[in-house]
Amino acid sequence: MSTTGQVIKCRAAIAWEAGKPLSLEEIEVAPPKAHEVRIKILYSGVCHTDDYTLSGSDPEGVFPSILGHEGGGIVESIGEGVTDVAVGDHVIPLYTAECRKCKFCLSGKTNLCQSVRATQGRGLMPDETTRFTCNGKPIYHYMGCSTFSEYTVVADVSVVRVDPKPSLQKLCLLGCGVTTGFGAATKTAKVTEGSTVAIFGMGCVGLSVAQGAAYNKASRIIAIDTNPGKEKIAREFGATDFINPKDHNKPIQQVLVELTDGGLDYTFDCTGNVEVMRAALEACHKGWGESIIIGVAAAGKEIATRPFQLVTGRVWRGSAFGGVKGKTDMPKLVQEYVDGKLKVDEFVTHTFDLQEINKAFEAMHSGTCIRAVLTLQSE
Ligand code: NAD
Ligand code: ZN
Ligand code: ZN
Repeated sequence: MSTTGQVIKCRAAIAWEAGKPLSLEEIEVAPPKAHEVRIKILYSGVCHTDDYTLSGSDPEGVFPSILGHEGGGIVESIGEGVTDVAVGDHVIPLYTAECRKCKFCLSGKTNLCQSVRATQGRGLMPDETTRFTCNGKPIYHYMGCSTFSEYTVVADVSVVRVDPKPSLQKLCLLGCGVTTGFGAATKTAKVTEGSTVAIFGMGCVGLSVAQGAAYNKASRIIAIDTNPGKEKIAREFGATDFINPKDHNKPIQQVLVELTDGGLDYTFDCTGNVEVMRAALEACHKGWGESIIIGVAAAGKEIATRPFQLVTGRVWRGSAFGGVKGKTDMPKLVQEYVDGKLKVDEFVTHTFDLQEINKAFEAMHSGTCIRAVLTLQSE
């Protein structure tokens, strides 16, 4: 029976308020309006950014909302004017939209499309309303995705069609973590062949940076993590060295500068800790070393270093979604995965059903989890 044009009742995990566990509810999902797409979500990864928002530290966090931004699903119906995707397509929602029309998209300098940014940041669809209700109460969207729901509605600029062959259980990780790290190395930093790289934090994002640096043929990839349990997997993703800062009584930047004859060509923060960001910048080689900030710091935190560090040629940059343009670049990443050149399966260490979502959040804090993937509906 077709659900096109109908309100769909389904299950979703609702974040009623900050700092509380998510709660499984029956919700109503309205049909897509013009330039909107309703997606049957099959799988969703759980990312630290979901946890960050749920914790209440995110200045943009709005409640009650449906979190989740690393999903994969199938288009159930489309609103008027949607041309990029069709019913039945396998898709990945994009928290960084790509409209190909705004000043940012046309600049050729950034992936930070602004077409839906203002409403997305307030948990709303572009027409300033929501498509979700629970017992008649409006529920806010999250990062333009809201993938912790069996059905979601996104703007047409916020979704990309992908090859239907690979399982979305793995492919959904391209919606955030894998793409963010791989893109930060290959697109933002453009790591060059033979260069040296240090990566702070070996979660999904840092491991993806390692993978991207290896892909671009860096000669030395130093993984740094305070959890010694991360060494094995870091090496599997291309790290040539592993350092636990706790094993040294000198600041880690000094350890790295001494180890690499003056510092690294590229460093990456994948922790969100502002002290680590400083160490990453100061571990760069004088004259040309570049440090990329990927981690999301807690609200109100600021970075600091002596300006002389920059005067003498070190560069500080940031990267959101790996500098990747969802519609233009994602299909190429999927192809790399299909061709066996991009690891994705290896990131999935835990799987849960939607009703176990709070266990997935607990797993994320366990130190052994790279990514927990939720199953929402069968394929
Ligand atoms: P994660 O928690 O799985 O990994 C973080 C790793 O850092 C862990 O292995 C931890 O042991 C290690 N760590 C913590 N403190 C450390 C320290 N002082 N020195 C060295 N290692 C340390 O997280 P993740 O999912 O990989 O995400 C990493 C960060 O990236 C988070 O802040 C997340 O919010 C952010 N993120 C940013 C973007 C973006 O577009 N910029 C996208 C996704 C995630
Ligand atoms: Zn994320
Ligand atoms: Zn745009």
